Amino acid sequence: MSPLQFDIAVLPGDGIGAEITAPAVELVKEAGRQAGLDLRFETLEAGAGLYARTGTAFPEENFQRAAAADAIYLCAMGLPDVRYPDGTEVGPQHDLRKRLNLYAGVRPCRTMPGVPSPLADPRAATIDFVIVRESTEGLFAFPRGHDLDDEEYAHNLLRVSRTVCDKLFDFAFRLARRRHRQGAGKNLVTHVDKANVLSSQHRARQWFDAVAARHPDVRAAHQYVDFCAFEMVRRPWMLDVMPTENQYGDILSDLASALMGGMGMAPSADIGDRHAVFQPCHGTAPDIAGQGKANPTAMILSGAMMLDYLGDKANQPAACAAAATLTRAVEAAYADGTLRPMELGGSSGTRDIVDAVGRRLAG
Ligand code: ATP
Ligand code: MG
Repeated sequence: MSPLQFDIAVLPGDGIGAEITAPAVELVKEAGRQAGLDLRFETLEAGAGLYARTGTAFPEENFQRAAAADAIYLCAMGLPDVRYPDGTEVGPQHDLRKRLNLYAGVRPCRTMPGVPSPLADPRAATIDFVIVRESTEGLFAFPRGHDLDDEEYAHNLLRVSRTVCDKLFDFAFRLARRRHRQGAGKNLVTHVDKANVLSSQHRARQWFDAVAARHPDVRAAHQYVDFCAFEMVRRPWMLDVMPTENQYGDILSDLASALMGGMGMAPSADIGDRHAVFQPCHGTAPDIAGQGKANPTAMILSGAMMLDYLGDKANQPAACAAAATLTRAVEAAYADGTLRPMELGGSSGTRDIVDAVGRRLAG
């Protein structure tokens, strides 16, 4: 097997999944081809639509094939009317985090010149930070609580472990070093917590400090999560990499997507020691599915994150170069301000955006 061969499992899922995944795969393929990569894609079925037809949301065979790939490229799953018997939405992608142990939820927030940010400050053009959301434990690890029968009280448990926190923090420091971010907030890892109120968060902060001491070349800081939300609006250009607890990361990520201009702009990755899933932050957008209106930018940028991950993991700079090429093509497509996705009030549909990025990629 060539060192530049990578197997990628593609899960288009539901809603707008099919219509934005296919063209995004073509762009990832082209960026890879230019860098001399041998990318092999296999499309697999899973999601609410499949569940409605067959009673199975994620066939075990497809799961095993996805788990055997070098990376998983997923759009979104779930449809409002398709539910499990207990009333919860069919979203088998959530199980991937647990089953594949994807503890680091990477949510970059970068403004794109040419795309308006809701912040009027001109410095908003330089927003470039990453939330690293712990995704396997914390408050969301126990969604059912322990006392659903109780008439008076309801509770959930916020539990974090040193093993996972240590890995998450290490990941954050490594990421800060690799990013080579410029500007005021550069080379900074900020632990976002609630150490003043919750003892588990106080412990996590101590563990963070111990990991920070092993990365003296990167600046380390703490911020309370409420103040962090304030700072993300007041001067987000001062932020760089922010590891945080599961639920805090969930909430702050939506705020971050809004800073980027819209749901269709925000990419993400869920990364573990052995597996990784790359998908846009948005859902299946059933209200606009099949109309050619969906913004494929987040899906394309998630593909760039995937190329960068593959290159970093296999120590193949060519794949990281392909990631940079694809990201630059997206930026170039938006730079003059004429490309404006429909969700941002413009008239550029899926095809217009894909074609614009394709043209920049072609030279
Ligand atoms: P989930 O629970 O999976 O997050 P959701 O219903 O909360 O799903 P989305 O499916 O992301 O959220 O849709 C929220 C809104 O954003 C919808 O109006 C949808 O049309 C819009 N939206 C989401 N993704 C895109 C996109 N890529 N392009 C354009 N509009 C989008
Ligand atoms: Mg949502």
